[in-house]
Amino acid sequence: MSLLDDLNPAQKEAVLTTEGPLLVFAGAGSGKTRVLTYRIAYLIKEKGIPPSRIFAVTFTNKAAEEMRERVERLLGRSARGIWISTFHSACARILRHHIEQLGYQRNFVIYDEEDQERHLKTVMKELGLDFKMFHPKAMQSAIDQLKNEGMTPEQFQPSYYNIFQKRLAQVYQRYQEDLKRNNGVDFGDLLLLTTLLFKKFPEVLRTYQDLWHYVMVDEFQDTNLIQYQLLRQLVNTHENICVVGDDDQSIYRWRGAEVGNILNFERDFPETKVITLEQNYRSTKNILHAANSMVQRNRFRKEKVLWTENPEGERITFFVAKDEREEADFVIRKIKEYLSANPSSEPYREVAVFYRINAQSRALEEAFVKHHIPYTIVGGLKFYERREIKDILAYLKWVSNPSDSLSLRRIINVPSRGIGEKTLEKIESYSRERGLSLYEGMKACLAEDWLSPLAKEKIFGFLQMIEDFMKEVQSVPLTQLTMNILTQTKYLDRLKEEGTEEALSRLENIDELLSVMMEFEQEEEGGSLQSFLERVSLMTEVDLYENKENRVSLMTLHCAKGLEFPVVFMVGMEEGLLPHYRRGEEIEDLEEERRLCYVGLTRAKRKLYLSRAERRSTFGVGRANLPSRFLDELPLELIEVEEPSGEEEKDRGWVERMKETGEILEGEGISWHPDGFYPLKMGMKVRHPKFGEGRVRSVEGMDEEQKATILFSSVGPKRLKVKYANLEIIE
Ligand code: ATP
Ligand code: MG
Repeated sequence: MSLLDDLNPAQKEAVLTTEGPLLVFAGAGSGKTRVLTYRIAYLIKEKGIPPSRIFAVTFTNKAAEEMRERVERLLGRSARGIWISTFHSACARILRHHIEQLGYQRNFVIYDEEDQERHLKTVMKELGLDFKMFHPKAMQSAIDQLKNEGMTPEQFQPSYYNIFQKRLAQVYQRYQEDLKRNNGVDFGDLLLLTTLLFKKFPEVLRTYQDLWHYVMVDEFQDTNLIQYQLLRQLVNTHENICVVGDDDQSIYRWRGAEVGNILNFERDFPETKVITLEQNYRSTKNILHAANSMVQRNRFRKEKVLWTENPEGERITFFVAKDEREEADFVIRKIKEYLSANPSSEPYREVAVFYRINAQSRALEEAFVKHHIPYTIVGGLKFYERREIKDILAYLKWVSNPSDSLSLRRIINVPSRGIGEKTLEKIESYSRERGLSLYEGMKACLAEDWLSPLAKEKIFGFLQMIEDFMKEVQSVPLTQLTMNILTQTKYLDRLKEEGTEEALSRLENIDELLSVMMEFEQEEEGGSLQSFLERVSLMTEVDLYENKENRVSLMTLHCAKGLEFPVVFMVGMEEGLLPHYRRGEEIEDLEEERRLCYVGLTRAKRKLYLSRAERRSTFGVGRANLPSRFLDELPLELIEVEEPSGEEEKDRGWVERMKETGEILEGEGISWHPDGFYPLKMGMKVRHPKFGEGRVRSVEGMDEEQKATILFSSVGPKRLKVKYANLEIIE
C-alpha cells in the first residue's frame, strides 16, 4: 500500500480512522494538511468511496487550490468531483440550488464590501441616521460580526442602554430587507443563509448530509462560530468529521475566529478520537527550537511536543538596519547571496519576505524594483495601487494638471461631499459637448439654471477649495501641500471617524506616502510635485516580470498561514510593529501577536532571517522602535548577528541592562532614540488639556527638545514638544 508508506504511524492512524469524529491537533509543519490529502486519497483509492461524497474545507482559495493539486498528484484523474473549497464558495454553491426557499431568486448577486457600504448608507439615510454619530463602516463591521456569530436581525437583542446597538438593530433589519429586495447577499449572508436554510428545511440539510459522508476541515483553529455551526449541522447524522488544527496558529480572533471551537470539539463530539502529531518535517532543528521557545510563553494554549529529524541547520541570522531602506537592502543582499550559492532552476520562488502590515511593503518593493529582482505581492495590492494612495495621487495629479479630468472625476466626491451622480453626469456631458475639460465645464455650469441652488453651492465650494490647492503648488512644499489637501478635504477625518481596522490601515498607508514624500524632498532639494509624480508613475508601470512564476513572494504574516518556503525573511521585528501597537493592549492580543510571529517563523524550511530597523519613517514621522520583545524570547545561542555594523550586541546588552536595573519592565515597549532614553513610553495613555486622551506612538529628541507623537482619539496624531504639552500620564 504505497499511499500509507509515506506517512508516520500517527499520520497513518489519522488516515485510517475514516469513520467518526477525529481531531488532529498538532503543531506547525507536522503534516496536518498532508494527513487530509492522504485521507482523501485513501478514501477514494482504498475504500472505493466516490469522490463526490467527500467535502473538504480550507481557509483560502489558494489553500484549496494547493490541496486539490496535492490530491491530484496522488490520484490523478480520479480526484475529480471532490468538493475542496472555502466555506464561502461551498455556501454559494448550495444557495444557488436552494435559495428560492428563502425567498430569493437563484440568480442572486453577491455584493462586495463596497456595494455593501453603499447599501448601508442608503438604509441609514432612510432611517435619518447621522453618519458622524453612526459611521457606516462601524455599522458594517458590527453587522459582519453579528453574521459571524450566526445572529439574524430577528435574533439580535440590543442592550436597552446601548444607543449604538439599538440603532444597529434597526439598520441590520432594514439592510437585510434592502439586500433581499435587490436579490443580493453579502459575504456574511452566504454562511448565515445557508445555516438558516438547513435549519428551516431539514430535508435540504438531509440531502447534503447524505451526499457528503466525509467532511474534513483544515486550519480549524480559525473557523468562526457560524462556520462551526454549519459543520455541526452537516455532520450530525454520521459524525464523520475530521478537523485538523493548531491552537498556536490561531490568528483571526479579530475577525471572529473562535479558537474555542478546537478546544470544545471534544465536548461537542464526545466520541472524538484525538490524534496528535509530534514530528515536524518542515524545518531545521534550529528554526523549530526557536519557534517553540517563543510560543511557549503563551498562557492560553495547549502544551504540545514538536521535534524533528531534520538537520540542525544554520543559525537564524539577525540584522539591525539603520532604517527601513537599509533593511530592504539587507534582504536583497541575502537573496543575491542565496542565488549564487544555490544553483536552482527557480531560486526566487524559494524565498519569501513577511511583514506585519501592508505599508511595510513599500520600501521592499522599491528595492526589488531597483535591483531587478522579480517579486509578487501575495494577497494584497501593491502600495501605489491602493485606493487611498490613488485618491491622494489623483488630487495631486489634478492640482499639477487641471485638465486631467480623469483624476478630477475620481476625487470629485471623495470623500463624499454630496455632489450627486446625476448632476455629475450632466456636467460631464455638458463639458463633452463643448469640448471643455471637466474642470472648465464645472466652472461654466455654475451659470446654468438646470443646476439646483444647492448643487451650485456645493460645486462652488469644491472649486474654491481645489483652486486654493492649485495656487499652493508653487509656494508650498510637497508634503505640506499634501497635508493641506488631506485635512481640508477631510479625507483624514473621515477615515478617523470610521475607526475600523481597514480605515486604520488606510491611515497607515497615507502616513507611509507622506514619509516617502519627505524623503523625496530631502533627497532632491526642493523636489517638485511634477518630478515626484513622475517617479511614482514609473514605479507603477514596472511590470517587467508579469509572466514569470519564478518570483520572490512578499506578504503579510496573515497571508503566510499554511505555506512553506526554503528561505524566509521576517522584517520589522520591532515593538509597535510585531507586536503591533494597535494590539498588545490586552494579554489576549499580545498572545495573538506572538502566534502570528510563530506562524511566520514556522514557514521556514532551511534558513530564517530576522531584521529590524533602528529608525523607521513608516509612520510619517521618523520613529525609533525598541526591538521586538519576541526577539528576546528566542534562545541567544540560535542567533547569529549579521555584520558589519556590530552594533547589535551592544544594543541587545543595552536593553538587557535596562531590564536588570528595572528601568524597563519585562515585555514593555519603550520608544527610544539612538541618543538617549526617556520616561515617556510607547503605548502609554496620556491626557492633554485640549486634545483629551491619547496614546503615545513615539518619542524623539532630547531633554528640552523632546517631542512625542501622540494619537488622540479626538484629533488624530499630533507631534508635541513634551516640555510645553502639559501631559498627564494616565496609565
Ligand atoms: P501547518 O501547521 O503550517 O499548516 P501542516 O501541519 O499542515 O503545517 P504540512 O504542510 O502538511 O504540515 O507538512 C509540512 C511539510 O512536511 C510538507 O512539506 C510535507 O510534505 C512534509 N511532510 C509531512 N509529513 C511527512 C512525512 N511523513 N514524510 C515526509 N514528509 C512529510
Ligand atoms: Mg497545513
